[in-house]
Amino acid sequence: MQVAAGAWYEVHRVDPGLSRILESHVAPWMRCNMWLIHGRDGNLLIDSGMGLRPIKPEVAILGEKPVTAVCTHCHFDHIGCAHEFDTRLGHALEAHDYAAPDLGRSCASSWIGAELITALPHAGYELRNFRLTPAPLTGHLDEGDILDTGDRVFHVLHLPGHSPGSIALYDHATRTLFSGDVIYDGMLIDNAWHSDPGDYEQSLRRLKELPIDLVHAGHENSFGRERLHDLIDTYMSGGQRLADPGVWIKDQKT
Ligand SMILES: [Zn+2]
Repeated sequence: MQVAAGAWYEVHRVDPGLSRILESHVAPWMRCNMWLIHGRDGNLLIDSGMGLRPIKPEVAILGEKPVTAVCTHCHFDHIGCAHEFDTRLGHALEAHDYAAPDLGRSCASSWIGAELITALPHAGYELRNFRLTPAPLTGHLDEGDILDTGDRVFHVLHLPGHSPGSIALYDHATRTLFSGDVIYDGMLIDNAWHSDPGDYEQSLRRLKELPIDLVHAGHENSFGRERLHDLIDTYMSGGQRLADPGVWIKDQKT
């Protein structure tokens, strides 16, 4: 496998207030969406990828204004670059997992054997040596908290199930949800070591009640209200659940 030529990250401007950042060389079925909200007074970076290369030097758009790193949950594919930012916010229930990230607790050990990357971040890199850099939270986010960028107001929703400290950001004015891994347009994971399917159902029931027109999720493409309700209904009837990572990974490659 060759070292990636050029940048590791790609930036897609969704609209003047939002960019989607992707890790070009992480397999599409695993790479997370990093959402950069361009606020009047500062930017929010929702999730920060696997951390295989530093994000700040490669993504100039991050440097325009102070950036607050919002961590939707502690899984390895979402928190890798959080340590690069001075302000790091997430749910207190997973505080330990940001401060002392561990391959098992971050779920990396369930996935790291697979062909997760399509190029090397730097010469001599070996994925089996993957480690996360500690990124202790500098503040906690919980249900009812508000993040105000000066021109947009985001309500924090605590939506456990995928993990106990999973959070989402909801902008009531635009009926937009940044959902992390609570919901995305793919097979949902409710069987990680700290998942709770009962909590998951309750969290999804809450989402179905909210006036949401657009979901920017932790993985895959964004979607609207109808798809959101389809995904929730399918999950409630026992579908849309990823049973075995090993089997699922093989399916992605064939
Ligand atoms: Zn996750």
